[in-house]
Amino acid sequence: MSISEQRLSASVLVIGTGGAGLRAAIELAEAGVDVLAVGKRPKEDAHTALAAGGINAALATMDPEDSWQQHAADTLKESYLLADPRTVEIVTQGAALGIDDLERYGMAFAREEDGRISQRFFGAHKFRRTAFAGDYTGLEIQRTLIRRASQLDIPMLDSVYITRLLVHDGAVFG
Ligand SMILES: Cc1cc2nc3c(=O)[nH]c(=O)nc-3n(C[C@H](O)[C@H](O)[C@H](O)COP(=O)(O)OP(=O)(O)OC[C@H]3O[C@@H](n4cnc5c(N)ncnc54)[C@H](O)[C@@H]3O)c2cc1C
Repeated sequence: MSISEQRLSASVLVIGTGGAGLRAAIELAEAGVDVLAVGKRPKEDAHTALAAGGINAALATMDPEDSWQQHAADTLKESYLLADPRTVEIVTQGAALGIDDLERYGMAFAREEDGRISQRFFGAHKFRRTAFAGDYTGLEIQRTLIRRASQLDIPMLDSVYITRLLVHDGAVFG
């Protein structure tokens, strides 16, 4: 059996082609950074694709009283105060922008008749805050991110298991 060797280089290596990795790779590519994304499984098969319930952001499309501060408070309470408050602040404050980005990439969120993104209860919420796409929100997110990454010509390698990073003087070289 012959083993083929392929050498690739990029300014940034993103390990993981689920929602987090692809979103990071897209941000880098949109900023003009040369990026390579790799995942140990086929990119359609990240955990992200399994998420069903939806994605939370205080868009206030259904309940105008909602706010990111209330989202943060609900999240901290539901974590029994184990969640890191700064992380919760960053995530809840930035969640609406995350939804905007997914819309910009063409994600098909469920909508009300007047075009507002629908939001429903899911988890310990004071208000309806979960945006969704049927019962396949994660699959739709994953497909949307793959499509956007492809439009940006981001190389995405499937089935590459990173076991070790070779580092010299702070730079990864293998
Ligand atoms: C059944 C289920 C239902 C869920 N429902 C919801 C929901 O309704 N709402 C919600 O907000 N969240 C939900 N979640 C949680 C949510 O899906 C995850 O928190 C989120 O998708 C994590 O995204 P991620 O990109 O960090 O990880 P993942 O999607 O798991 O991606 C990880 C990536 O890293 C790669 N990888 C890992 N190790 C290596 C390695 N050594 N080398 C190379 N690649 C590697 C994997 O191949 C994959 O591409 C659910 C999760 C599951 C499993």
